[in-house]
Amino acid sequence: MKILKWKYKDDERPKGKCYDCKLDYHKWGDIIISNNMWELINPTYHKGAGLLCPNCVQNRLTILKRKKIIKCGKGIKAMLWGI
Ligand SMILES: [Zn+2]
Repeated sequence: MKILKWKYKDDERPKGKCYDCKLDYHKWGDIIISNNMWELINPTYHKGAGLLCPNCVQNRLTILKRKKIIKCGKGIKAMLWGI
């Protein structure tokens, strides 16, 4: 999936949805990534802010050529630490 925009301004940030694919927050499992990694893919101009679904987290990490793969299925919570 192609990312149309890397950073979203405050008035462009969808509420309760993945910023990239607009999937509703309640339709995916939470994943935990390190703060450092989040800042690499942060879709906002604010530290620690933003909302991305696991697929879009993976897309952004792939674009950055980070090799860690998030596997996330129904009810599976993926943990991803460090880079
Ligand atoms: Zn998404």
